[in-house]
Amino acid sequence: TFQKDEYNVLILGLDNAGKTTYLEQTKIKFTKNYQGMNLNKITTTVGLNIGKIDIGHVRLNFWDLGGQEELQSLWDKYFAESHAVIYIVDSSDTERIDESKDAFEKMISNAQLQGVPLLVLANKQDLQECMTVPSVKQVFFETSEKFGGRDCNIMGISALKGEGVREGILWLVESIK
Ligand code: GDP
Repeated sequence: TFQKDEYNVLILGLDNAGKTTYLEQTKIKFTKNYQGMNLNKITTTVGLNIGKIDIGHVRLNFWDLGGQEELQSLWDKYFAESHAVIYIVDSSDTERIDESKDAFEKMISNAQLQGVPLLVLANKQDLQECMTVPSVKQVFFETSEKFGGRDCNIMGISALKGEGVREGILWLVESIK
């Protein structure tokens, strides 16, 4: 029988960054006949949301882990089995940008994630007062010499509107393979 290449993708970021909305939007974009939840009724992740999509021969299994401080300590339990990381930033929440960067730096310095492709998504680009993608990039990639030899990229998205979601996944699939 035909077997797909399966990869595990972690979706990380602070609570309220838009992880649950993003995962749901990704399922909507890449699953035929999938209606999805009402995106406006989504509430923050407590625990774990999972999902999978198929793109050609590739299957991506997503793990969206809760971002609250007390849950961040659970992230590294999943690192050993992850093939890629998507890190979601709320570009409209300038008050928590440093907190998000701290969690990000801790995550990328973990040895278990060495060489794993990394996609940073500057979310909520639909909001007028949000940080631009170049300014989010400046914050998160300032110390990019720490990134090691991994593939990394940053893109702007609106998880709520579904803008940029497809492009990010396609980049990730190419980087994982
Ligand atoms: P999580 O805690 O990271 O899982 O975040 P959620 O997916 O629950 O989203 C937190 C809040 O941000 C919700 O009210 C979402 O509707 C909102 N949100 C998520 N993505 C976007 C976006 O792209 N634009 C806007 N304006 N709001 C968003």
